[in-house]
Amino acid sequence: MNSNLTAERPTFVTHLECSLTGEHYEADQLHGLSRAGRPLLVRYDLGAVRGFVPRAMIEARPTDLWRWRELLPVRHTENVVSLGEIETPLVPIAKSGGPNVLVKDEGRLPTGSFKARGLVMAVAMAKELGVTKIAMPTNGNAGAALAAYASRVGIETIVLCPDDTPEINVREIAAQGARVYRVNGLIDECGAIVGKGAAEGHWFDFSTLKEPYRIEGKKTMGLELAAQLGWRLPKAIFYPTGGGTGLIGMWKAFDELEQLGWIGPERPKMFAVQASGCAPIVRAFEAGEVHAERWEDAHTIAAGIRVPKAIGDFLILRAVRQSGGKAVAVGDPAILRAADDCAKKDGLLLCPEGGATLAAYRQALVDGLVDEEDEVVLFNCATGLKYPMPDAAETLDKNGAIDLASL
Ligand SMILES: *Cc1c(COP(=O)(O)O)cnc(C)c1O
Repeated sequence: MNSNLTAERPTFVTHLECSLTGEHYEADQLHGLSRAGRPLLVRYDLGAVRGFVPRAMIEARPTDLWRWRELLPVRHTENVVSLGEIETPLVPIAKSGGPNVLVKDEGRLPTGSFKARGLVMAVAMAKELGVTKIAMPTNGNAGAALAAYASRVGIETIVLCPDDTPEINVREIAAQGARVYRVNGLIDECGAIVGKGAAEGHWFDFSTLKEPYRIEGKKTMGLELAAQLGWRLPKAIFYPTGGGTGLIGMWKAFDELEQLGWIGPERPKMFAVQASGCAPIVRAFEAGEVHAERWEDAHTIAAGIRVPKAIGDFLILRAVRQSGGKAVAVGDPAILRAADDCAKKDGLLLCPEGGATLAAYRQALVDGLVDEEDEVVLFNCATGLKYPMPDAAETLDKNGAIDLASL
């Protein structure tokens, strides 16, 4: 068996910290949001990590997510849950992107999306802290990852989706053992129902950033990227931004890596990519606001980034601004064109949210925000196979004369 999953290793979590006020909270206790109503961040004794694991020791381990154990919150190996969280490849897309464009293809992860990274960690911690029942609002992929991992460790789950969530997502959630409900509202409205049930003591609330450990799981994208590129970071990262967990998590990972002395102070420009039909972060970025107001009448084919209101809005905006990047919106037609191009020319099937990052990259090139020479990483966060594809097949009659040369 994979040694990352069998070895008992020391852990280094010191406390949790309110992302807004810096107030400290005790580790090893069940927490939701901070008293200020904001996400909690997990803090580690990085000096001790540095003394305990040289970078070379990490390099010698199998390359999966659990390679980063000392920078993750799970205390006891017996609570680790796994469906095989592999290191995802960086796939060049020279024809549809450019000579220096890499796609980090997160569609290879269990349950077909990078939600697995966050939920594998959050579920392991729920197990460690004795949670028995979880509820979550989802646009699809998070619910599927929650269902899979929670079922595996015997935690009961209730998942609420907007009623127009892609059918395959709704079905895979149920197939993996959760009770799933379609709700006539958007994800934040599903979240309000989940919050009410949690306040009444029916379940633990697993909404994006409302428990502290999903960020830690998503952080591994940043750790992995640094290791894959030989302990440096790309010039720019294009991240499809809904709740922003991954962008916030990577930004945190880069800081931790620098404190460990494993990378230098250079940071990529972070581009938070949204759809023009739901772009609250872009609007706030352009207006110079610290927080983002709710986006009314949200609509886009990229369901994973249809998040009208993000509780970590200020963390997303802060990271994007500090990095010298930008929040950018792209329309559905550009998203579809980019995904189609990438599949037809480079053979890589993107999800619509992945298509959005390619569309945004193209726009950024035109606007002079990045150069063709810059190494950039686009995140494809789910396998394109989960999404509807146009039917381009014609039919053949096996009993008739077939003009083979014309096929
Ligand atoms: C959830 C999701 C996103 C958005 O991720 P966040 O970290 O919540 O912003 C993007 N793409 C896909 C496919 C998703 O499932």
